Amino acid sequence: MSDDVTTRVIAIDGPAGTGKSSVTSLLAHRVGARQLDTGAMYRAATLAVLNAGVALDDPAAVADVVERAEISLDGAVTLLDGVDVSRDIRTDAVTEAVSAVSAVPAVRTKLVAVQRREAEGEFVVVEGRDIGTVVFPDADLKVYLTASPEARATRRHRQNLAAGRDSDYADVLAGVNRRDHLDSTRAVSPLRPADDAVLVDTSDLTLEQVLDTLDGLVRDRIGVQS
Ligand code: C5P
Repeated sequence: MSDDVTTRVIAIDGPAGTGKSSVTSLLAHRVGARQLDTGAMYRAATLAVLNAGVALDDPAAVADVVERAEISLDGAVTLLDGVDVSRDIRTDAVTEAVSAVSAVPAVRTKLVAVQRREAEGEFVVVEGRDIGTVVFPDADLKVYLTASPEARATRRHRQNLAAGRDSDYADVLAGVNRRDHLDSTRAVSPLRPADDAVLVDTSDLTLEQVLDTLDGLVRDRIGVQS
């Protein structure tokens, strides 16, 4: 970062199902950085909105609930008003509603500020949709992970089954496509690669191969010995 010598940011953006979360946590571990899952923050905001029972199509009410919510990350644990909601934010209800909540400008303003504060003075690997474009435009390294919708849906489907959740491949694929569409066409901070991001297509790569690719980029760009 040009304006803060002690903050170092690796931005990892891309749609759901590219392996982003797994890669982020393994990469952070390898290079000795902190991991920030910004999707978990938008999910916690969405849980607050669902708990409050306000209509998703009422942006003022949604913004009001999220402005009053206290959202923070502690490693892989997500806290909403001091309560561990790490499991509750992965339900279908939250996944269905999160694109609507994250499209509200006041929600983004609040969470972007939290994300910048959490990274201050730290070495962080930050995953999300707008990290390289909006949150940390001066990130030391920007990676944009892509994969075909089918490859992404297959991964999500397997994750669901492994976690003991009911899963139907066709439904998962439809959900992936729907969320991609909403995330990439919204007015504020749409999902798109930063101009200076390195694009990595993970469709035919194993997690280990993606990790090695990113590890190499980190060492080239930042010089971290991992
Ligand atoms: O990464 P994950 O799939 O958990 O993110 C859930 C949702 O949160 C995304 O579909 C998107 O709507 C929203 N999100 C966002 N900006 C981010 C991270 C996530 O809008 N930086």
